[in-house]
Amino acid sequence: MTSSAAAPADAIVVGSGPNGLAAAVTLARAGLSVHVIEGAATPGGGCRTEALTLPGFLNDVCSAVHPLAGVSPFFTGTDLAARGARLLTPKVAFAHPLDGGRAGAVAGSVDETAGGLGPDGRAYRRLVGPLVRDFPLILPTVMAPLRSVPGHPLAMARYGLEGLPPVSVLARRFRGPEVRALLAGTSAHAFLPLTAPLTSAFGLLFLMTAHAVGWPVVEGGSGRIVDALVGELISLGGRVETGRWVQDLGSLPPARAVLLDVTPRQFVAMAGSRLPARDRRELQRFRYGPGVCKVDWALAGPVPWQAPACREAGTVHVCGEFADVARSESEVAAGRHPERPFCLVAQPGVVDPSRAPAGKQALWGYCHVPSGSTVDMTERIEAQIERFAPGFRDLILARSVRTAAQMQQHNPNYIGGNIDGGAGTLWQTVFRPTVRWNPYRTGLPGVYLCSASTPPGGGVHGMCGNWAARTVLGDLGVRH
Ligand SMILES: Cc1cc2nc3c(=O)[nH]c(=O)nc-3n(C[C@H](O)[C@H](O)[C@H](O)COP(=O)(O)OP(=O)(O)OC[C@H]3O[C@@H](n4cnc5c(N)ncnc54)[C@H](O)[C@@H]3O)c2cc1C
Repeated sequence: MTSSAAAPADAIVVGSGPNGLAAAVTLARAGLSVHVIEGAATPGGGCRTEALTLPGFLNDVCSAVHPLAGVSPFFTGTDLAARGARLLTPKVAFAHPLDGGRAGAVAGSVDETAGGLGPDGRAYRRLVGPLVRDFPLILPTVMAPLRSVPGHPLAMARYGLEGLPPVSVLARRFRGPEVRALLAGTSAHAFLPLTAPLTSAFGLLFLMTAHAVGWPVVEGGSGRIVDALVGELISLGGRVETGRWVQDLGSLPPARAVLLDVTPRQFVAMAGSRLPARDRRELQRFRYGPGVCKVDWALAGPVPWQAPACREAGTVHVCGEFADVARSESEVAAGRHPERPFCLVAQPGVVDPSRAPAGKQALWGYCHVPSGSTVDMTERIEAQIERFAPGFRDLILARSVRTAAQMQQHNPNYIGGNIDGGAGTLWQTVFRPTVRWNPYRTGLPGVYLCSASTPPGGGVHGMCGNWAARTVLGDLGVRH
């Protein structure tokens, strides 16, 4: 990293998460000089890898599984592999164990997956097949602010019709527990009760990505994505300054544009009385979703899942049947800690042996909890895994835990432990962060938001930063 004593830059980016860096790289590619200012000691925000448990184990501190990076127009236009970030695709994108050693699993094409789903295979093919076929037409719209006419209205209409109702309605099309559980698991990524509108859209989007690119992990850890972006930025003359928390916009060096990889709450604090009252009020109405309690483990060996599909899956959704996931998500929404929580578990070792010493495994997992929770959910998460993988507990060599409240201490963007920049409600999916035609501009000329609190929202795809940077380039009259 570099010191701050250098010539003023055209653009300042505050925050070096995937969106801050995507913005910085997009601006630098267009010829602007860029200075990134990061509060933490290392760049990367929600995309870092550290030895959190034991020496020799590489744990992804936040993001671990990268379907969104795999399909994102920003990342597909970036030669990540050439810069050392190789996406590795597990044989099974994700699996969902059920009691009795059964599991639903998504692997390969729609036909391959449907073949393993018994009597529900035909209905799965009918629902998911056309969406996967149209995915290249749907993708540009879901990776952009949902405020303009879609480029392919028919494909979007089909996705919208299937995606708008709650997944509790969509799941009724299936008779067996497997597909219903698969839908519950992918839809629960929305952090909403499964009876909420748009939960199907989340679930179907993640299913489409699973068939389009699998759910890859990064060889050596997610942090390599950040290394690749920082490497490109520096090669283009940009610089990254770490260890400098920005509390006040007035403390920033002069620049033609300032891009903030922070959420509305932090922006309001940084802007202070400079922000017009109306803008402040609108930003203060922005809502944050539930939090997560995260656990990383060093294991003496692979998780002994009863269901064979889970042993080959990069991601395992652990909770049980649709009703179990629904109960867990409703409890979280009601401010309670579920006794049997919905857990997301990633086992990058199924495809990346570099994550742990030979024969051992680095395991990653979290469950949803109410915003700001200080409850350590380790016991309950481990009980859920043990339920589908008897003997799991005997393999634990070490663990590292972060409650939702600690998530926010680790990264101030994770308000109350909310990891995707704000609640994924219907309103905030369309009007994120406020009702502005261009959601990246703010009430302060020359100051832009570029975090996951802007469209298209949470995840490592870089598109919030990319769109914000394109807005800046347009406003500055720079060709791109
Ligand atoms: C536990 C967990 C699991 C996740 N799993 C996945 C996953 O598997 N796949 C996936 O795609 N996504 C996942 N995510 C979500 C993903 O990490 C985020 O959506 C993504 O990182 C958002 O990027 P961002 O650039 O908007 O913000 P962030 O990544 O949060 O980066 C913001 C940066 O700004 C810095 N910053 C904030 N305020 C200031 C300030 N005042 N001054 C200076 N610097 C500041 C922060 O330190 C941070 O580095 C996960 C997140 C978490 C926490």
